[in-house]
Amino acid sequence: MPIYEFRCNECQRTSSFFVRTVNDPLNPVCASCGSSNVERCISSFAIHKSIKTIHEESGEPTMFPKNPDYYRDPRNIGRSTEKRLKELGVDMDSEEYRDTFAGVKETIAAAREGEMPKTLKDQL
Ligand SMILES: [Zn+2]
Repeated sequence: MPIYEFRCNECQRTSSFFVRTVNDPLNPVCASCGSSNVERCISSFAIHKSIKTIHEESGEPTMFPKNPDYYRDPRNIGRSTEKRLKELGVDMDSEEYRDTFAGVKETIAAAREGEMPKTLKDQL
């Protein structure tokens, strides 16, 4: 379950929100003062949870997309992962996240070369 953190521009406090999916409409207000003048920030915990979600949804055989051929094209695996990270406001190439996402980038690069992630290859 993704967790979003928002910092209030009025009182500078941080509030956490749980959402079921990243597509859930989100109208966060500050838990301390009720202001809607809040900015999203991402905690390391939220990133950790999100990477797990990304792996479950894009690389593991537990995901069953509507089009069963979608993940037979390994290029789509990298695409959905990058899209998800972009939605989270994460730049994999930035200095801050480069180390964190080194493995993810390797997997994407391998997929782009046409190499299926191991778990998926076994399933297919
Ligand atoms: Zn506030």
